[in-house]
Amino acid sequence: MTPITPAGSTALNAVKPEQSIKLNPLPLILVVEDSQTTAALLSKYLSGTYCLLHAKDGQLAWEMLEQNHNIALVITDIHMPNMSGHQLLVKIRKSEDAQHKNMPVIVMTTAEDNVDRNLSFLNGANDFITKPIDEMEMVSRVNVHYRLAQTIRELETSRKALAEQATTDSLTKLKNRRAFFDVGTKALATARRYVSDLSVILLDIDFFKKINDTYGHSVGDDAIVLVADVLTQLARTEDTVARIGGEEFAILLPGTNRLGTAVLAERVRSAIEREQFIVGDKIHPMTASIGIASFGVDPAETIDQLLGVADNRLYLAKNAGRNRICVNDEGKATFA
Ligand code: GH3
Ligand code: MG
Ligand code: MG
Ligand code: MG
Repeated sequence: MTPITPAGSTALNAVKPEQSIKLNPLPLILVVEDSQTTAALLSKYLSGTYCLLHAKDGQLAWEMLEQNHNIALVITDIHMPNMSGHQLLVKIRKSEDAQHKNMPVIVMTTAEDNVDRNLSFLNGANDFITKPIDEMEMVSRVNVHYRLAQTIRELETSRKALAEQATTDSLTKLKNRRAFFDVGTKALATARRYVSDLSVILLDIDFFKKINDTYGHSVGDDAIVLVADVLTQLARTEDTVARIGGEEFAILLPGTNRLGTAVLAERVRSAIEREQFIVGDKIHPMTASIGIASFGVDPAETIDQLLGVADNRLYLAKNAGRNRICVNDEGKATFA
């Protein structure tokens, strides 16, 4: 991390800012205070547990927050030149950066000034402490808010991980069936609204049971991953590739008409046929059958129905001998 300390701001610990930030794993606290005496007091009270940075006014504090994303908590005075504590609070809470928006902020007020205190709460302060500052009270309040913010961060991290897990297929890391239908439903609404193209490719590996029966389930899993990789390589970033069943995959293609979809389907089919699935010293020939369907052309009002049309055509491709694509209900491989 490269510490950037704007002019007029300093690290309060008795070491240089670069040193304190680089070497010190302690959580960073930004003290915003125009009085050197108060700033020095806070340093004395907190610097055993935290690494303190100091800004002399709200403006400098804001610059430091923008430049240093490791700041974990802010303690601010109210009355300062350039930008007051109130203005700083408003800027922090209005920020589009979630880290700033959720930053714990403790405001320092004078005991008799309940107008400033109430305004601070209205502006989004988490807590206040009255001057003259009591050491134990300051340390306790900072500890409570630091721990609370840390718990919220941890919860947010695990919430994101769980959301990711709920939409991801663990074997291939592709989107799972549920995610495919969620993305598909939204894409269909967009296609309907803007009268744009939307197509699906449905693919099933041929004679996959034979791979499992011959080499075992784990080799079967490798074959599934190999096909997933081929699909990922051929799809564009706006496409959604998903594993929607055991050895069954779907690709959602926004903005692609049936001709473009047929071209991609054939490219996918031939890529899988060409791909060498190596088991020990053998190459196991692997092929797949594909059905396609396009919104606006095929009779489908929902993503489920669109996939149903593609599934009927996949069935026709299987019946016609496998390792082929089927683009319509007559079992044709092309539109020609
Ligand atoms: P077809 O050409 O008609 O598609 O024949 P197939 O053998 O591919 O089709 P079938 O549906 O009979 O077999 C699919 C097999 O896939 C059955 C199931 O045991 C296996 N399977 C499902 N999920 C997994 C998985 O996650 N890993 C492995 N290794 N096998 C799986
Ligand atoms: Mg002041
Ligand atoms: Mg199958
Ligand atoms: Mg199969």
